Amino acid sequence: MLSFERVRIRKADPVKRVGTFELEPLENYNDGEAIAEASRCIGCNMCSAACPASLDIGGYVRSTAAGDPAQTIRIIMETLPFPAIIGRVCTHMCEDVCVLYDGGGPIAIRHLKRYAADKFDDYGEILKPQKRKFIGKRVAVVGGGPAGLTVAYYLTLQGVKVTVFEERPALGGFMKTGIPRYRLPQNVLDKEIGYILSRGVQVKLNTAVGRDVKFEDLMKEYDAIFLGVGNHKPRMTGTPGSDAPNVMHATEFLERVSFGEKINVGETVAVIGGGFTANDSARTSLRLGAKHVYIMYRRRDVDRPGYPSMNADEEMEEAEEENVEYVWEVTPFEYVKENGRVVAMKYWKNEMVSQGKGRAKPVPIKDKFYTIKVDMVIEATGQETDYSFLGSYVEKLRLNDRGEPIVDQYGMTSIPGVFTGGDSTNPNRDLISAVRDGDIAVQGILRYLNVMDQVSYDDLPLLDRFKPYSYTAAAEAYASRGLE
Ligand code: SF4
Repeated sequence: MLSFERVRIRKADPVKRVGTFELEPLENYNDGEAIAEASRCIGCNMCSAACPASLDIGGYVRSTAAGDPAQTIRIIMETLPFPAIIGRVCTHMCEDVCVLYDGGGPIAIRHLKRYAADKFDDYGEILKPQKRKFIGKRVAVVGGGPAGLTVAYYLTLQGVKVTVFEERPALGGFMKTGIPRYRLPQNVLDKEIGYILSRGVQVKLNTAVGRDVKFEDLMKEYDAIFLGVGNHKPRMTGTPGSDAPNVMHATEFLERVSFGEKINVGETVAVIGGGFTANDSARTSLRLGAKHVYIMYRRRDVDRPGYPSMNADEEMEEAEEENVEYVWEVTPFEYVKENGRVVAMKYWKNEMVSQGKGRAKPVPIKDKFYTIKVDMVIEATGQETDYSFLGSYVEKLRLNDRGEPIVDQYGMTSIPGVFTGGDSTNPNRDLISAVRDGDIAVQGILRYLNVMDQVSYDDLPLLDRFKPYSYTAAAEAYASRGLE
């Protein structure tokens, strides 16, 4: 039956879900729910201006409403090779601009993507891809994360031979190491990465460029190179006491847990930071047995990374359902050690001082400090990219004042034939934006290789076909509703 109200997604019981990594917080729509929800969409495609991968959202929501999830997958995979992954963890900025936001709620675009993707174990059965003849070009992809795998997939469809060099023992990049398994199950990663590999992508795991293979050799052996290396180098606060073994950066913590390590976090964990990685670290700590978990952020809730957005609110809501406690406007200044381990944290409260333009600055009020007992501290305080693996080429890589490579409109760096994208350059630092960068680089690489006259346009990821993408559309739409 047609309804104007968004069809609610069921959630797993928070008490049950914090006891395991196996239970996804959000359940899936059934057929009737998905069709009812999709039937609300008016197909205007206003939302595509906020989708980095510029998906034909109106088109695939309509095919879902018509009971044709196979067509939904065909449309999504025009520019995005991870429907089930993005259907679970996308920041879904498209929903923030949906014209039905104030008319029963935005279309549940992300949930509908997952619904369609989970219908199929093998996308080959519905996509029926044709194998292209080798067009005589070889491309190396450094890093098997979302940007690198997107490049590998769409170039392989064009008959380019692609080899992915991944230093870890598994593909996925941040999808594997940074997003916990309760939000993104391993079998979902395996299905979608497995499909990409089935197209003929070559992979060298446990192979670090700069250590096991010289970058200079890749430059000689390949016609072009894509760097999808992410930003895995931790940025620690340097707070006194942070050299203790029970103080860890979030990227290391999440990566070790993602590879199966059961880290002993004790009873009480303090996570420093306010973004999505802080949330994931806090909720992972609960699943490792912590009883009290605090997220301690130096600014206000409305200043946290990722806000204003519906996604940031949903993530905080899910964390609060699991009893994660947020402590806003604080500055930790000492991790107190006993016998070499941190046992407590001292912090000041902050006041937010207006700077005129831009965000207010947190300033600690130092005449009084507070102490909490902690068994573990996790610093989710950002990370950066280490380019030393480029060897002699590192000097040729021009960086901007934020330390990110300067690229042209197709993602080519200052080193001819070397392209990059994803978390190391994209200000959004989310998966769907990494996919966008991969799509852009595919076109750039094909142009650089001078093979545009041989491409199959049906398999070329073409962006901004419906509305030009805007980096700010979603935040502006969300903020304009006065939800801050
Ligand atoms: S803006 Fe909303 S109604 Fe319009 S196509 Fe997108 S999801 Fe459908």
